[in-house]
Amino acid sequence: MTSTSTLTSSDNFKETLKQQADIVRIVGDYVKLKKAGAQNFSGLCPFHAEKTPSFSVHATRQFYHCFGCGESGDVFAFIQKVENITFPEAVRLLAQKLGVPMPKVGFSSPAEARDAQVRMALLDVHVRAAAFFQECLRRPEGANARQYLKGRGLDDETIARFGIGYAPDSGFLLRDALRREFDEELLRESGLFSWKESSQEKQVLRGAQNDKNGGGSAQDDKAGENANANHEERTANSGSSQLAARFSPPAAIYSKFRNRVMFPIGNEQGKVIAFTGRTLSASTDEKAGPKYLNSPETPIYSKSRVLFNLDHAKEAIRKLEYSILVEGQMDCISVYAAGFHNVIASSGTAFTELQAKLLGRFSKKVVVNFDPDTAGARATERTLGLLVEEEFNIQVLTLETGFDPDLFIRRKGKDAYAAALKHSQQYFDYLIDRARAMFPGRNSESKVKAVNHLLPHIQRVPSRIVRDGLALEISQKLGIDSAVLRQELKHAATSRSATQVRATAEAQVTGAERVLIRALASATQMQAGGERSSTREGTDEEFDPARQAQYALQSEQLYEGLASQSLMESLLEAGTETSDVMALPKTEQDRRLLASILMHEEEELTPETVEGAVRALRRIYLRRRLEEVQGALQRPGLPLENRQALLQEKVSLKRALMDPGLGEAAGRAS
Ligand SMILES: [Zn+2]
Repeated sequence: MTSTSTLTSSDNFKETLKQQADIVRIVGDYVKLKKAGAQNFSGLCPFHAEKTPSFSVHATRQFYHCFGCGESGDVFAFIQKVENITFPEAVRLLAQKLGVPMPKVGFSSPAEARDAQVRMALLDVHVRAAAFFQECLRRPEGANARQYLKGRGLDDETIARFGIGYAPDSGFLLRDALRREFDEELLRESGLFSWKESSQEKQVLRGAQNDKNGGGSAQDDKAGENANANHEERTANSGSSQLAARFSPPAAIYSKFRNRVMFPIGNEQGKVIAFTGRTLSASTDEKAGPKYLNSPETPIYSKSRVLFNLDHAKEAIRKLEYSILVEGQMDCISVYAAGFHNVIASSGTAFTELQAKLLGRFSKKVVVNFDPDTAGARATERTLGLLVEEEFNIQVLTLETGFDPDLFIRRKGKDAYAAALKHSQQYFDYLIDRARAMFPGRNSESKVKAVNHLLPHIQRVPSRIVRDGLALEISQKLGIDSAVLRQELKHAATSRSATQVRATAEAQVTGAERVLIRALASATQMQAGGERSSTREGTDEEFDPARQAQYALQSEQLYEGLASQSLMESLLEAGTETSDVMALPKTEQDRRLLASILMHEEEELTPETVEGAVRALRRIYLRRRLEEVQGALQRPGLPLENRQALLQEKVSLKRALMDPGLGEAAGRAS
């Protein structure tokens, strides 16, 4: 990455900017920092609530890390996160703060430039389409749609705010409106149109349009209640039609969305990138398609990354420090219109990890307002599970049976909804109550059933401490008096293999490993600072801790089997070819470990400390090998030959361990 030939001009600009910025000063604009060590500062973390500072900034290495919530990164990451903005925006903002003019936008390849162009054009298509749908809603043919929206209690202001429109029954009006401005290839990419052809015939000959297969015979859109129109339509007898198509002009495109109320879906910046269309056909037969139809995935729309209404809601979510999560767009609009502006919708499908992370950027507290008990609630359960895994503070708002948020607000008013919000229940309290209702008996059998019902939910919680607390709460609330059962519950709740590893890996890292990791990291430090060590220039006099550690670790593979093995491997792999050491670790866990080691750099790295650390690792290796050998010798039926070799190795290992100098690779048997 440091070889200048491979750097694009924009990479260069970011690097220059990063070098000019002092992360301590930039972070200092947001966090009150105090000097905490030779090179680090600390303060209260801006990303999680805390009373004692666990947020640290490394002045020479220019990164931050929070030991409370695990956030870490460089100056760009900090700005991005604290301002809730994208990376390019963070670059721009930092340039502004430093008073550096931005270079003109460049693309690294023609393909990238073309993709960017397509995305821009698709955004334009959506602006025009949204305006078209809104216009249609006002026209006479939009009467039914207006009636529907009125029936749902939406006033003109709300309709305008959400840009709601109407897609007419004709398949061609939208196409004709857009064709004047946009290329047909682009319209095909927009997700707004269908056409009848198999994929081979996609190399469309422009020109001659064939309108005979009108918009009525939609056979797509039949994939259930909330479908994505992401498959091309197929005619019933596709075999013969393919043959025919080969000799006929390209199939005409026509609107996917017909006779539907159109809800635009905005990206985080509020730009329309897709639509949901709600059918107005009384019967949901095949011809009318599903009740709700969503845009397919396009270059500008990825369903798994978008939350409905986040563009309108994000400010309120930040201010109120929680969000309200409802299921459908209609619910979302009603709740919003009633004055609860921090509401977003999952659009009837299960949350994705990306969506949970996206939401988490604004607040980690969420009130979930859909009934987790409803039939077909698998998606709901997945959503809640994911939020638990992302460490959200979740409350459940349960409305009376038969009421969704939309209906509730229309019947009972917004004050009643506000009151219900106040009475929402902690998710785990809710789960415990439910388990008690499902297994009501007071005997130990139903208690065990209730516990087993709850366990999978608890095991999703990443924090062991929280799980421990939950186990205790459950045994109290379920009135578990058997010590054995209580112990079993506690064990099941706390043993969650992945987390256990995470919790203990850091503690298992020895002082020697820490020294060597610091030594490895020092290679990149010297490069970042621009002052290369003279060792690398040729003279051999100055001590280079990085080189010494690299040599010892690599030639003897001393890191194998250590708690820090994967981190050491990442550092060794990178060698001296990087300027950002915090970018090297491959897992969160390793990043955290590296941050914690670097933040506690106190004593200087000398030849003696590095040498001492290498010796310590050799000793660890020898002991482990000795244990293995002794274990092997215990095994019954060991052939005499092997036994002799092992005995010999045992002797030499023991001798090596006695050697105070532990000479290089002393005990390593061949
Ligand atoms: Zn934090």
